[in-house]
Amino acid sequence: MSRLDTKPQIGKLANDLGLKKSGKPVSEIVRYVRRKIRSIAKNYNCRSLTALLNAAAGNAGTIFREIHSDSDLDKIIEEFVSKGEAIFANLRNELREQDYAITIKRQHAQSWEPPFVSVIDCRGDKVFRAYFSKWHELAHLFTLTPQMRLMFRRTHGAALQDPEEALMDVIAGELGFLSDLLKLDGREEISFETIDRIRSEFCPEASVQASIIGIVKALPQACILLDAKLGHKRGQRTNPRQTPSRDPQGVVPVLRAVHVTVNQAARDAGIRMYPNWRVPDKSVIHQVFDRQEYGEAVENLNWWTTSDGSRLADCSVVVKAKASLQSVIALVIPED
Ligand SMILES: [Zn+2]
Repeated sequence: MSRLDTKPQIGKLANDLGLKKSGKPVSEIVRYVRRKIRSIAKNYNCRSLTALLNAAAGNAGTIFREIHSDSDLDKIIEEFVSKGEAIFANLRNELREQDYAITIKRQHAQSWEPPFVSVIDCRGDKVFRAYFSKWHELAHLFTLTPQMRLMFRRTHGAALQDPEEALMDVIAGELGFLSDLLKLDGREEISFETIDRIRSEFCPEASVQASIIGIVKALPQACILLDAKLGHKRGQRTNPRQTPSRDPQGVVPVLRAVHVTVNQAARDAGIRMYPNWRVPDKSVIHQVFDRQEYGEAVENLNWWTTSDGSRLADCSVVVKAKASLQSVIALVIPED
């Protein structure tokens, strides 16, 4: 059960969409949207995720307009204001620094035109989020209820505060990497190269970071993805902006798996791993963090322990670790 399941807005949304009451509105809503997207993939015979994205946009009644520069933004404003869409006049203020995308309902669309326009901000670093932002906007449109708003956004950090925004991110993460379309081969060896090949073949628009999470989730083979960084135990950190050297309390940060994604195949096999556990000293992840670009080794999940004596279950795994900017990304693959 997700923490979002307890939020009243999410329960209400599931109810407004006419979904059955199961106590797990998040799964119900995700399943509802996935069904719609699968039928679009079938009807339009989509062979790549980019084709599916565009077909889904058409079905949802929107069109993506990317802006890569301030002058792109000016052109879009001019174009739609001249078509009588006064709401666009303020787009420069609406599309704020922290916004990645905005979807606007047109008031004067012709009968043959899509009723919505989704403006995707691709200026600067935001371009790496564009693929995910598009699916986020579509998630809003596929979960529209009669109490419809005239404008939707994707804003950095909004998902932390607003349960509905968080749900849209969950839906976007699922749909952006629909496993049926990735045509994954259950016998293929999992590696960073395999994941990169899948990304360039099926979702070249997705950022490397978003795609690796999405693809690992969709893999038919059990796999855990983790991101190891120097970090503190929960509650130890005094100031989140503190550089991870030594904080005033004298707590030395250690290498921890700060983000952990356990895919469905691994969960089905009973494999567990939890965020914030410290990386075992003898793990190849440490070597890569200290001095290597890449390393792999056969290890065991039971090396992972906590100070209060918890330990992961015995499971032989291949660990493939790759240095990233300030962290190590690792694929942890159970051996069968
Ligand atoms: Zn949003």
